[in-house]
Amino acid sequence: MAMRGMRVKPAAMSGNGAVLDVRREGREWVVEFMSEPHGGTESLWFHLECAGAGNRRIRFAWVNAHVCLGTGSAEAMANVRPVVRLGNGDWERIEEVEVVERRLGGHYVTFRTPRRCHRAAVAFCYPYGPEELQGTLKEVGGRWEVEAIGLTGEGRQLVRLHASPDRRRRGRPGAYVAARQHAGETPGSWVLDGIVRAVAAEQPAGPLRGIEWWVVPFVDLDGVVNGDYGKDSFPIDLNRAWAAMPMRPEVAAIQRDMQYFAEGRARRFVLDLHGPGGGETRIYQMHCRKDRPRAQREAARRFNEMFCAEIPEQPTERLGVVPTYGTRWDLRHNLSSWAWDELGKTLGVTIETAYQPMNDGQWQGRDDYREIGGRIARAAAAFLTRRSRRAG
Ligand SMILES: [Zn+2]
Repeated sequence: MAMRGMRVKPAAMSGNGAVLDVRREGREWVVEFMSEPHGGTESLWFHLECAGAGNRRIRFAWVNAHVCLGTGSAEAMANVRPVVRLGNGDWERIEEVEVVERRLGGHYVTFRTPRRCHRAAVAFCYPYGPEELQGTLKEVGGRWEVEAIGLTGEGRQLVRLHASPDRRRRGRPGAYVAARQHAGETPGSWVLDGIVRAVAAEQPAGPLRGIEWWVVPFVDLDGVVNGDYGKDSFPIDLNRAWAAMPMRPEVAAIQRDMQYFAEGRARRFVLDLHGPGGGETRIYQMHCRKDRPRAQREAARRFNEMFCAEIPEQPTERLGVVPTYGTRWDLRHNLSSWAWDELGKTLGVTIETAYQPMNDGQWQGRDDYREIGGRIARAAAAFLTRRSRRAG
């Protein structure tokens, strides 16, 4: 919605947010907005741009936080720390928010730009799209090859990165990493950015160089570009579309690619990077549900030991969760179930990294996510090589 003086609209890349009202209150602007479902059942992600603020502070009122995923309660809302960018500056965390009671029940969240500004962008967490990935690949040099493995539903090239170990040998241990099955879960991308950098920076004899890496940075690339949150999107959540007859073209392309990845490779690992409910403040491995085969659950526990060893800042009981929440689609059709059932019992692990500051606020920036990514890469390498030792 436009008002004389300040214009507010979804960002050109990954934009999301319905603007309900823009008004002046005293010296500042007030923007009331809601996160948009964008063709899905859930909302959370937002990314708005304001222009013409006339050197004033802007207060944002996120008025549908109470119906967004994982921010329904006042407690969860109090953890929310969106990010803001003033003018041509860099993204920064909002340091405090206010949780406000709604007149007829529930709460919402408000927060201010830290300083006066002419232009501002605000997002639920640090945005990460194809431009950020390009920047990283350029920075780390030619270690990663980029290949299109198919097209998205809207016709964009679905890209997979590949990094070979130094010595070519068939059947090397390999990790296949995916991020953004849920388009708005940008912490998964910052963690992946850390993996990409760690692999590129690894010494020739280092453990990350002994492994072959296959990486799909944006599974739901259309959703990333369009600013979808993407959790429980229509016609089917990407991470519930992993049937033997896949229900999304992106999944079909990645399944085929994973079959090539698995061919002749005895030691395989699949990693799926996500962001959890909006108000959560930790990183954890999502374990298999109780009805999954025992061998899969045990393999997941083995990985969890290595994961826990890499994240000593958090108690181990906070580093794993057995999911019990409801689902709108068949859980046999998520990536980790498919990898086990259809890809020769390949362990697929889901890691959820919070949008919000973690480790008592010590981790909240992009470099912290990247650091975590490097550690997860080491856990994956340990998992793959320890199995190889055990196998003889
Ligand atoms: Zn997710």
